[in-house]
Amino acid sequence: MNEAIRCQNPSCKHPIAIIPGHRRRQYCNDACKQAAHRARMLAAQQKEWARKGDLQERNKLIDEILEDAERLEFPACSTESFTIKPGLNCWLTFCNESSNAWLRLARDTVYLRVQALAGRERLRQLSANVTR
Ligand SMILES: [Zn+2]
Repeated sequence: MNEAIRCQNPSCKHPIAIIPGHRRRQYCNDACKQAAHRARMLAAQQKEWARKGDLQERNKLIDEILEDAERLEFPACSTESFTIKPGLNCWLTFCNESSNAWLRLARDTVYLRVQALAGRERLRQLSANVTR
């Protein structure tokens, strides 16, 4: 048996007999043809959902980053993956050009710095009370 033609329905893949003189078929039958069509539609739909999900996450990350970075007055920020120079413009450029993975890292970094700042502020108030 030579290299068989296989059904293009991804959940079938049965070999298809080549009948000399006939046009080469791509599917076993109409059911497989329809199943393959549905599979293509679903794949396209899932890709679209993933794209929308990514975009939604991205917008949320950028909101969170800019909100915390603003509290820190848009400082310089270095991680092992990237460096952001100080200033609003540098932060905006970073947000526009970075992958969601980098945005997540930046979000976590500024979040921790805001928490640390709040902690230092509490300590400062406590020690002010003690020395008074
Ligand atoms: Zn088939």
